[in-house]
Amino acid sequence: SEALLEVHDLKKYFPIRGGVFQRTVGHVKAVDGVSFSIKKGEAFGLVGESGCGKSTIGRTILRLNEKTSGQVIYNGTDIHTLNKTDMRKLRPEMQIVFQDPYSSLNPRINVGQAVGEALLAHGLCTKAELRDRISEIFNICGLAPYHINRFPHEFSGGQRQRIGIARALIMNPQFIVADEPVSALDVSIQAQIINLLGDLQESRDLTYLFISHDLSVVEHLCNRIGVMYLGSMVEMASRDELFKNPLHPYTKALLSAVPVPDPTLKRERIVLQGDIPSPAKPPVGCKFHTRCPIATEICKQQVPEYREVGSNHFVACHLV
Ligand code: SF4
Ligand code: MG
Repeated sequence: SEALLEVHDLKKYFPIRGGVFQRTVGHVKAVDGVSFSIKKGEAFGLVGESGCGKSTIGRTILRLNEKTSGQVIYNGTDIHTLNKTDMRKLRPEMQIVFQDPYSSLNPRINVGQAVGEALLAHGLCTKAELRDRISEIFNICGLAPYHINRFPHEFSGGQRQRIGIARALIMNPQFIVADEPVSALDVSIQAQIINLLGDLQESRDLTYLFISHDLSVVEHLCNRIGVMYLGSMVEMASRDELFKNPLHPYTKALLSAVPVPDPTLKRERIVLQGDIPSPAKPPVGCKFHTRCPIATEICKQQVPEYREVGSNHFVACHLV
């Protein structure tokens, strides 16, 4: 099937200001030339440590950020060229689910109102229909309709995430960015939310960009996975290929932390040394060289080319 979303050489730099006059003294290259596409109905996982730029990609794709350069093509349209009116028309189709819905829920308005407000604001339903629409979406998300009149603090973390999903879903979107949607939840609750997202993907033909720092979380939901490090994509492949045949040393390290069901297949744990460098001052050459267990001289000097090494398997490493 065709691509619903194409991201071409996307860059998002944030200025660093300093001195008395708050002049721009540098840039944080949060997203530094990333390309990928997501087919209709696909769940694409974007993985990497916090600070690698994955949330910024999610926000820039939805145009909650303006880009620095590159293109975001959604359904054939470069959305960063749309005017305010056309962008507003597109908003319902592209939704986001956050890590912590609690922080985006107003503590003083009941969750039914919170879920319904954007629907009303976009004129997508009448006041008379609203309650039925909210009840319906609560049901679909595994929330009893009597919860509608309750307030955010009355819910558990898992229920709050269901509310966050309901708020996105009620707009009848095609595409959802899920930014670390289960990272704040207990493992047992994580599975429930992942299953809910998987069921919704099938029943409502949704396309996901699923962002996580945890490969084991994306494993169950995503059919393709991209691995990011300091603003760049370092490897991208189908889930099966990436788990069977990881090529980039960073991917190998992330994968070594994922528990395997069969203990005889125990992977050797690769623990990365050192902290993730600042994206304001990334290492030259391969940005991963300061932590890479197999780095050589060339890695400190030359940026490795991101290239296709197998069918739809891309990697950026001198030694692959
Ligand atoms: Fe490691 Fe060098 Fe490959 Fe970078 S290019 S991942 S430093 S081996
Ligand atoms: Mg983030």
